[in-house]
Amino acid sequence: PVPVVAVVGRPNVGKSTLVNRIIGRRQAVVEDKPGVTRDRVPYDAQWTGRRFTVVDTGGWEPDAKDRAAAIAAQAEIAVQTADVVIFVVDVSVGATDVDEAAVKMLRRSHKPVILVANKADNQNLELEAVSLWSLGLGEPFPISALHGRGSGDLLDSILAAL
Ligand code: GDP
Ligand code: MG
Repeated sequence: PVPVVAVVGRPNVGKSTLVNRIIGRRQAVVEDKPGVTRDRVPYDAQWTGRRFTVVDTGGWEPDAKDRAAAIAAQAEIAVQTADVVIFVVDVSVGATDVDEAAVKMLRRSHKPVILVANKADNQNLELEAVSLWSLGLGEPFPISALHGRGSGDLLDSILAAL
């Protein structure tokens, strides 16, 4: 079976942009407002000849209500059905309470997690990524999903975790 990689995180951190970067085409919908991706959306991907499925999700929020709660539930299902989870944080914002709550959910899943510090568009922001060690998920991977910075290294480590 083809391994599955789920991409989760708060709304607007750049999950769909990262998914497009991974699949090499603009298929996942990127929006400047949160809550655009509602379900779990699988895409075929490959890197250095290895195939995998990457699943885009809507934003995960704790104690969300109504529609947001349904989106968060889908993200949790994506985590539970993944082989590896990519947890995306916006390094230009830093770790928020919502990120910390998401980490608790990820810990309960016992899945391997790769921590991505997205929006590291320049070297200063790249250096900010060290602050994300505080999340306790190990080494943060600084990338810019928008510009492609760091995405090759990230793909290498995704494959290494599969
Ligand atoms: P999602 O809600 O987590 O799926 O986030 P999106 O992928 O829809 O992106 C939300 C916004 O962040 C969009 O305006 C993106 O262009 C922007 N964005 C995503 N990745 C980056 C990045 O690496 N750098 C910057 N500066 N903006 C980004
Ligand atoms: Mg999205």
